[in-house]
Amino acid sequence: MGWQAEAGIYVHIPFCRRKCFYCDFPVLAARREATVSRYVDALIREIELWGEQMQAGWLASGRSGEAGQFVSLYLGGGTPTYLNSSQLLRLLAVLRQHFPLTPDAEITLEANPDRESLTEEKLAALRAAGVNRLSLGAQVFDDGYLRAIGRDHNVRDIESAFILARRAGFTNINLDLIFALPGQSIEEWQLTLERALALQPEHLSCYSLIFEEGTLFERWRAQGRVDPVPEETELKMYELACNLVSAAGLRQYEISNFARPGRESRHNLLYWRYQNWLGLGAGAHSHWGDRRWANLWPPGRYEDRLQEAILPIDTGTELSLSIEEMMEEMVIMGLRLIEGVSGQEFARRFGRSLDEVYGDTITRLVGAGFLARTPEGRIRLTRRGLPVGNAIFAEFLLTPGSLTT
Ligand code: SF4
Repeated sequence: MGWQAEAGIYVHIPFCRRKCFYCDFPVLAARREATVSRYVDALIREIELWGEQMQAGWLASGRSGEAGQFVSLYLGGGTPTYLNSSQLLRLLAVLRQHFPLTPDAEITLEANPDRESLTEEKLAALRAAGVNRLSLGAQVFDDGYLRAIGRDHNVRDIESAFILARRAGFTNINLDLIFALPGQSIEEWQLTLERALALQPEHLSCYSLIFEEGTLFERWRAQGRVDPVPEETELKMYELACNLVSAAGLRQYEISNFARPGRESRHNLLYWRYQNWLGLGAGAHSHWGDRRWANLWPPGRYEDRLQEAILPIDTGTELSLSIEEMMEEMVIMGLRLIEGVSGQEFARRFGRSLDEVYGDTITRLVGAGFLARTPEGRIRLTRRGLPVGNAIFAEFLLTPGSLTT
């Protein structure tokens, strides 16, 4: 396989001031400074260890390509801005020292729009250190709903964080929004969209609330204390977002993501185009060539392993992907994109055409109006297929071993 993948780095900062009621991410709430500082030290050890591995050619040994340079660095969480400026700057410096970033690499920082963790000085220092994209967890422009979902900021905080970020020189800002909150009406969602668009962000992510297992919201749903919005309302909310956001000049490029031309998230495109990414930090996931793994969780286990100067990989999660699994994943991730999946890219990667593997499925879904073929040989979801993507993705699962010859 002569195909060369692009690569990105994800760094997980697992701290938040408190846990939001709907959140199932691996995060710890309200940790002491000493805990955070111990974690940062461990993270730096991990970066250095990977730096050594890279020099030894480890990342270049993946079956599907060579390491090359990294086009994206993403500091996510959790709340990366829970770290102070000097911790963040130290991390960025060590990352740059050990991982070759392309000159135009996208460097994203996720941030919570609260006054405590997001100050003008911190934003200016990070911008000066090369962070060129900010992703603000706004969620909803309504103080009542922000409280109801357990966020620790209010609408004024979002707006002032946005203004501070612009003042600090950020010209590429994403706002994360959530809709279909219990009790939320379509009109209320429209107000959130309008206030978000009034700030003129370069990028908008709109996800519907999922009642994930293990969250407070899921427990409350089971107890009948909160009710999901009806499915038809959720669908209308989704369609409203697609229409309003597109009318404001942000092109929909993925099921839930919109951007001004050229401002699509390069990092998330790596996931959707099924490229390589290395996840650093406790619980972070990686995908490299035909391998997948996760780091140890919780941070105590992760830090202990690094104390022994061993990469903190949870060996129980290490997988060598079969050809069928990689094909499925590439198609399912790629169909999330409005551009869809490239037949050429698929053939280059796997040595078989999309039609050889999925011909019947594609013909059936095109006939039913959920899928379209493009003149350039791509397959993509239609307007009708987009809202029911999950059901369509299931059609692309392959029988294990079916393609092994
Ligand atoms: S801020 Fe984000 S990561 Fe932290 S608890 Fe809330 S949803 Fe989860």
